[in-house]
Amino acid sequence: MKDKSLSVAANPALIPPEHPNARERIADLESRTRRAVAYLGEETPNWVPQTPEIDHDVLIVGGGQTGLALNFALRRAGITNVSVIDAVPEGFEGIWLTCARMETLRSSKTLPGPELGLESLTFRSWYEARFGEEAFEKLDRCERTLWADYVKWYRQTLDITVRNGVTLKRIIPLERGFEVELVQSDKKFRERTRKIVLATGMIGSGEPSTPPVIASLPRTYWVHTDDIFDSEIFRGQTVGVLGAASSAFDVAAIALEFGAREVHLFARHAQLVHTTRLKGLSYAGALEHFPELPDADKWHLMRYIWARSAGPIADTVLRATRFENFHLHLSSNWHSSAIVNDRVTIDTDTGRFEFDKIVAGTGYRVNLAARPELTGIIDDIALWRDRFTPPEDEESETLGSYPYLGTGFEFMEKTPGTAPYLADIHCMSNAAMLSLGRAVGEITSIRYGVPRLANRLGQDLFLADRQHHIERIKSFNRPDLTGEEYADAARRRQSESASDRGNNDKQYEVAKK
Ligand SMILES: Cc1cc2nc3c(=O)[nH]c(=O)nc-3n(C[C@H](O)[C@H](O)[C@H](O)COP(=O)(O)OP(=O)(O)OC[C@H]3O[C@@H](n4cnc5c(N)ncnc54)[C@H](O)[C@@H]3O)c2cc1C
Repeated sequence: MKDKSLSVAANPALIPPEHPNARERIADLESRTRRAVAYLGEETPNWVPQTPEIDHDVLIVGGGQTGLALNFALRRAGITNVSVIDAVPEGFEGIWLTCARMETLRSSKTLPGPELGLESLTFRSWYEARFGEEAFEKLDRCERTLWADYVKWYRQTLDITVRNGVTLKRIIPLERGFEVELVQSDKKFRERTRKIVLATGMIGSGEPSTPPVIASLPRTYWVHTDDIFDSEIFRGQTVGVLGAASSAFDVAAIALEFGAREVHLFARHAQLVHTTRLKGLSYAGALEHFPELPDADKWHLMRYIWARSAGPIADTVLRATRFENFHLHLSSNWHSSAIVNDRVTIDTDTGRFEFDKIVAGTGYRVNLAARPELTGIIDDIALWRDRFTPPEDEESETLGSYPYLGTGFEFMEKTPGTAPYLADIHCMSNAAMLSLGRAVGEITSIRYGVPRLANRLGQDLFLADRQHHIERIKSFNRPDLTGEEYADAARRRQSESASDRGNNDKQYEVAKK
C-alpha cells in the first residue's frame, strides 16, 4: 500500500488562484456531462446475459486513468457488470502523487485524454471551470497534482466505483471464465469473472530496471525513480544518478531542492537524447492503425524507436541544471561499485566517484514473469520471441520478451490450442506497445486504445453468447402496432369490396339479358 505521507508535493507557484465561482462552475460542468451522455442516448442497459456463479463480466485491474476510461466506455456500450479494483488507496492510483516527480506533465495541455469524445469531460473544461479561461490560456503544461485532481473529478463525475485496497494475486482459468484470488487488508477471497483487463500501467508490464552495478549494493544505499521515498533522504548528501531520461532528471532536481550537497548525473552517450523517437508515432494514423501492421514492420519500427530511450523534456533538464552543484557527466557509463567506509564508490568511464546515495534512473523492463498476478499462467503466454524471428541484423532480446498480443490486447498462446482462455485476458499495460503501438501507455493513448479494447470486449462477450442472442433477437415481441391503427381502413375496404362485387354481379346479369 502506498504511504500517503510520502506524496510528492506540488510547486505552489504553478497552481493559479481558483475562479471565484469555481464551485458552481464545476457543478455546472458535471450536469453538462450527465446531460451530454443522456442526449447521446448512451445510458444503454446491460445486454450481457447473467451467467450463473459469475460475479463480473469484466474485471478491470487498475483504477488509474486507463481503467476508469475503460469502465466508462463499457458502460456506454451496455456492458455494466464490470468491477474495477486497485491495490492502492483512493486518490493514489497510478503514479501522479507518488513516484512521478516532475513539476508539470510532460505531455501538452491540449492532448485528448479519457473524455472519450465528451467536451465537458475534457481536462480543458475542468481546468477552465476551476481556474478560469484566462488561466488555461496562460497555462503551459498541467501541474502534476492537478492532473491527479482531474482524474479524481472524472471518476466522481461519472460515478465510477473502484474497490481500492484490493489486489489481484492470482488468476485461475476455469472452463468458462476465471476465478481470481484477491487480497484486501490481508484477507484472501475469490471471485469469478468472464474477462480480465490488466490496466496496470508502467509497472504492470514487469519491473523497474536496475543494472547489476546498482542492484548489487545494499538497498539502503540506493533508490530507483519508481520507488516511493521521502525526499529528505537527500539532504546534505552527495548523490550519484545513473540515467538521463526525464525521471532521472526529476529526482536529481528534487535532491537539489531538498538540500543535497552535490548531484552528479551520468549518461552513457556523448549527448542527451534530443529527439524522442517514440513521439514519431503520435499522429492519428499511427495511433489508430499501428496494430494492423505486419509483425516485421512493428518489430522494425520499435527496434528503431527503442535503440535510444526517451529523452528528457527541456523544463526537466533546466530544473536540474539551474543548480551550481549539479554536475552532468556525458559518455560515462558505470562499471563497478563497492561500499567503502559507508560510502558508495563507483568506477565509471570518466573516473572514480564516491557517493552517499545512488539513484537508479534506469526506467522499466518488460518482464511478465515479475508480475505476481501472472504466476501460474505465465508459461502459457506467447512472447514475441515465441512467434517472430527477426532478421539477423534486427535481433533484440528486449523486444523478444514483450508479450505477443492480438489486436484486442489479448494474450496469445505460446503453443496454439493449449490455453484458449488467454483470449479473455487483455493486457493494457505498457507491455502492449510492441503489438499495439502507442494505443497504450500515455494520456493520449486512451483515445485510441480504450475504444478498441471496449469494442473487442463487447464483440467477444456477444459471440460467446451467440445462441442466447439468436434466441433473444428471434423472441423479440414488442409490437409497434396493435392492429387498431388500421382496422377501420381494412373494414372499410372490405365493405367497399363487397359492394363493388354486388355492383359487378348486377352489371353482369344486365349484360347477360
Ligand atoms: C514518471 C512518469 C511520468 C509520466 N508522465 C506522463 C505525462 O506527462 N504524460 C503522459 O501522457 N504520460 C505520462 N506517463 C505515462 C502514463 O500516462 C502514466 O504511466 C499513467 O499513469 C498510465 O495510466 P494507467 O491508468 O494506464 O496506469 P497507472 O496510472 O499506472 O494505474 C495502474 C494501476 O494499477 C494498479 N495495479 C497494478 N497491479 C495491480 C494488481 N495486481 N491489483 C490491483 N491493482 C493493481 C496500480 O495500483 C495502479 O493504480 C508517465 C509515466 C511515468 C512513470
